[in-house]
Amino acid sequence: MRMWWMPDYYVKSVTDLRPACLQNLNIKGLCIDVDCTLTDYVSNNLPPEVAQWLDQIRHNGINVCLLSNGGKRRIKRLADRIGVPYVARAMKPLPFGCHRALRELGLPRSEVAIVGDQLFADVLAGRWAGVRTILVVPRGADREGLITKWKRPLERLLLKSLTPKSLASCSQEANAEDRVKRGDSSLGGTASADEPRV
Ligand SMILES: [Mg+2]
Repeated sequence: MRMWWMPDYYVKSVTDLRPACLQNLNIKGLCIDVDCTLTDYVSNNLPPEVAQWLDQIRHNGINVCLLSNGGKRRIKRLADRIGVPYVARAMKPLPFGCHRALRELGLPRSEVAIVGDQLFADVLAGRWAGVRTILVVPRGADREGLITKWKRPLERLLLKSLTPKSLASCSQEANAEDRVKRGDSSLGGTASADEPRV
């Protein structure tokens, strides 16, 4: 039986979610958490590789809506800079913010996934809203608030029992395609120990 806390997919970083991979999964829209998913905790700076990834997925027709529990001013500023809609003060794990993000995306829930770094906020909100869930390893989480810090050990405990169901082959195929497009003949890349998994 599927446990309530289990994400559909688990990847190291949002940048592991290649457009071809998402398209294969019929995911046409992403509701993306901000803190520790796109940026470091409460940072206003989008890492260059994440900005590039956002450009790439949007260029490939995948719509994005930021979905954050953070304050409106900061999330709006980031969303405006990227040029995407947003839902701030989403109150995850409650599903209402996700419902609003679905309306912003204009897509059925079957074609949308939520992406975030917290089991007890992002994954739970996605499960309750009826969309697919993608968990990422938190980035820049060392400045997180106390409540989140207390939740992390339990998250790690739960994640230990996940049965791997990989996005790795899909991502590797997409990587290989990218390398072919770049004319790179070294296609024999190996999977790292922390390849995407569920
Ligand atoms: Mg987060």
